Amino acid sequence: MRAAPRPLLVDWDWQQHAACRGMNSSAFFSPSGERGRARRTREERARRVCAGCEVRTVCAATALKHGETYGVWGGLSRDDRRRLDDAAARTITRHEAPSQ
Ligand code: SF4
Repeated sequence: MRAAPRPLLVDWDWQQHAACRGMNSSAFFSPSGERGRARRTREERARRVCAGCEVRTVCAATALKHGETYGVWGGLSRDDRRRLDDAAARTITRHEAPSQ
């Protein structure tokens, strides 16, 4: 017997407790063409909001799990997530590579 699928809302229920709830999403997602200092400043502002958020861990984990390519999630920017993914890939490769 197959388990009933989880309602999608359950997976996103944590957002009910988000510190950013009701905020303009432009604080977390870069406008087209944003670069350099403007981007770093916006991301730092977003990180300050995330630092006080009670669902920060699940937010960051969700972005990593889904390969989210845009925005600051759980205090992690796109570049932060890429670095974590690269580090995880190196660790997995190092541990799973056959010894010679
Ligand atoms: S960690 Fe940041 S982006 Fe995630 S829900 Fe909290 S405030 Fe929003």
